[in-house]
Amino acid sequence: MDSVCAAEVIAFTAGDGFPLNLHHFPPSAPGPSDPVLVLHGAGVRANIFTPPVAQTFVDALREAGFDVWLLNWRASIDLPPNEWTLEDAAVFDHPAAVRTVLERTGKTSLKAVIHCQGSTSFMMAAVAGLLPAVSLIISNAVSLHPVVPALAYLKSRYMTNSVGRFMTYLNPQWGLSAPLGWPSVIDFYVRALHHECNNPVCKQSSFTFGAGFPTLWRHENLDADTHEWIKGEFAHVPMTFFREMNRCILAGVLVSSGKHPELPRVFDAQAPKTDARFVFLAGQNNQCFKPESQQRSFDYCDRHAPGRHALYELSGYGHLDVFIGKAAAQDNFPLIIDELRRA
Ligand SMILES: [Zn+2]
Repeated sequence: MDSVCAAEVIAFTAGDGFPLNLHHFPPSAPGPSDPVLVLHGAGVRANIFTPPVAQTFVDALREAGFDVWLLNWRASIDLPPNEWTLEDAAVFDHPAAVRTVLERTGKTSLKAVIHCQGSTSFMMAAVAGLLPAVSLIISNAVSLHPVVPALAYLKSRYMTNSVGRFMTYLNPQWGLSAPLGWPSVIDFYVRALHHECNNPVCKQSSFTFGAGFPTLWRHENLDADTHEWIKGEFAHVPMTFFREMNRCILAGVLVSSGKHPELPRVFDAQAPKTDARFVFLAGQNNQCFKPESQQRSFDYCDRHAPGRHALYELSGYGHLDVFIGKAAAQDNFPLIIDELRRA
């Protein structure tokens, strides 16, 4: 799997020594030149923001004059497989990433666009007060309150309590080549159940991340090249994450295990320890996390600072198609760029 061709790749280490990197794309037009840190979700990598479309999210930000930094945090499939959790990323990865960008740019603050589990883990760090230099956070799909469709809820409980006990990872690449044992059983099950398209990685990713047909996008929003390209963009996700997310889904809010004293046990039980402004995006047709997820997190932030934050429901969009959809450049990027430009 070839990775995106960045202007420069900056290797750095997380707080616990885990090797991470940032892919830097400087602005391609005059503009604010503010650094924007962009975070991918689970089981993908920084590359997910550069699908084979005419204008990617990275292109749009650069052409608007922003200095773009794509983070490969510990959930990235570009990094060594590891049994990560959101709370480890919140404490070890994201503060180190922000510090690295600020050191490199000489700026005192930055803005962040965060997706899915990049969003949940970054929000953990933000509301715990670990990211004081982040002034604006634009979150897609889910942030502090994971709410999933009923079938996905049942599957999450079943998976983590049954076959999940015997496996260390799920991997959408099993659609292309499944090792013997549980991976072959899961591949057989997914092939028997999913008939929505002919892309085995697309179908496996639907199974890995929920119970939709598909889960992560609306097929009508992807062009054929992007639908094919995702075959190389989804891989290993550890059961440690699924077990952690299952606890959060049951609680209706992100909760921590108590391992890190820096983090609250219940993330909405106190006011957010940050001055950042939050913008929440929710695909109206999201089959992975229901739009209610972002509504609840907006309500929490709005309660503590009425009128300061924003929530947008994106009509006709699902989950990741908000960024990789064939019309995302027209439908979604202008809204995100307008929010990034706001003082
Ligand atoms: Zn598909």
